[in-house]
Amino acid sequence: MEFPSDLKELIRVPQNVAILSHRNPDGDAIGSSLAMQHYLEQYGHTVHVLFPSEYPQEYDALPQAEDILIWDIHTEECKQVLQRKNFFIFLDFNAYSRIDKLGDFVKALPGSRLMIDHHLYPDPIANYVFSEPEASSTCELVYRFISGLGDLQKISPMVARCIYTGIVTDTGSFRHATNPAVFRIVADMIERGLDDTGVQDMIFNSQKEKHLRLLGHCLSNRMEYLPQYHTALIWLSKKDYEEFNIQRGDTEGIVNYLLSIRDVRLAAFIHNQPNIVKLSLRSKGDLDVQEICKKHFNGGGHRNASGAYSHDSLRTTIDKFKNLLPQYPELLNKK
Ligand code: 5GP
Ligand code: MN
Repeated sequence: MEFPSDLKELIRVPQNVAILSHRNPDGDAIGSSLAMQHYLEQYGHTVHVLFPSEYPQEYDALPQAEDILIWDIHTEECKQVLQRKNFFIFLDFNAYSRIDKLGDFVKALPGSRLMIDHHLYPDPIANYVFSEPEASSTCELVYRFISGLGDLQKISPMVARCIYTGIVTDTGSFRHATNPAVFRIVADMIERGLDDTGVQDMIFNSQKEKHLRLLGHCLSNRMEYLPQYHTALIWLSKKDYEEFNIQRGDTEGIVNYLLSIRDVRLAAFIHNQPNIVKLSLRSKGDLDVQEICKKHFNGGGHRNASGAYSHDSLRTTIDKFKNLLPQYPELLNKK
């Protein structure tokens, strides 16, 4: 990473900072945002973290998660806070469309902009850009950003806790998107006092009973397996949402269970949210789900994990998805 001198100055001299991340924030969005907040506060910055929508409850336990401002809930307060800001940091997203109305508002404000992200094809929305699609997570990049500025001693156990959260969630507990740097970073953070097993406990052993009931329902009643296309999918209707009282974040991670079927190369989770149908696609190997999401559903993400939205009905969206499968040789090949 190269650091222009004016960026170093921005980081080292107290500013009024807004840290923003994407809609439906995941562990990497929240972890990178709170890590950056706790790092910058050591330099005396005034920092607010703002998300377009709520985050899953397991992250409540991260330091200062309770102070995060949610545009959908605290719209007026978000506007007032943002108007005072002179430095905007965009983490784990790379296009204003990923932060919806929050993006429309921030776009019009003056101030410096820094983007740290690992999604493909960034839009030119920041004057300082650290975009590395090969990185495991934005949290890995936040660690390397702090380290590159010569500030490793500022990676306190609290900062490490946040960074580790995003690394664990975006690599599926070190099952994909790993690289040598990630393991070195984790080893270094453990030496700095990171309670790694405590973080795993926070993420994976803090579900409510209803999450397991919902997972059981998805696997036994809503899963379709299409062996001829090496594809499995799970869908959830509006009725399911009502019956299981599904809140934002409750369905996080369900799609990954499909990948545990030996021959599955493509996994899809298609569900009816209040106003739209949301798709989450995951793949093993060379199949590029980013391309499928972008080309057919106006979405994006990473090669092996992407998402998108559809304004068609649930049924139409599922049919459209299934009808695309024969186009992909990676799904038809025997091996
Ligand atoms: P998920 O399926 O868990 O919502 O998202 C998987 C990945 O795709 C994440 O990196 C997420 O940021 C990205 N993603 C999800 N939905 C969208 C979308 O509608 N547009 C774009 N560009 N990326 C998305
Ligand atoms: Mn990420």
